[in-house]
Amino acid sequence: MIDSVKSEKYIRLESLGMGPYAMRKLKVCSKCGQIVGARTLFCPVCKTRLPIKTLFDFYKRMHFECPHCGITLATDAQYCPHCGRKVI
Ligand SMILES: [Zn+2]
Ligand SMILES: [Zn+2]
Repeated sequence: MIDSVKSEKYIRLESLGMGPYAMRKLKVCSKCGQIVGARTLFCPVCKTRLPIKTLFDFYKRMHFECPHCGITLATDAQYCPHCGRKVI
């Protein structure tokens, strides 16, 4: 099923540090693109003050959330990989 493919993709992204949970802990410098921890205030490379928003917030803007459990979904998702409910 498409659902299991989706959740496998999520797990793989997570193991690469690019999943939604990993991204919640990361920010990206708007000037040099350095990826830093979410609590970092200044970029260690170019010393630019970093935005409050994490990488996850940017990611979230390009996706939509499950209306049942609030997890972020790919825009083409029909079923939530977290709670398994239909989202369209
Ligand atoms: Zn920087
Ligand atoms: Zn859900």
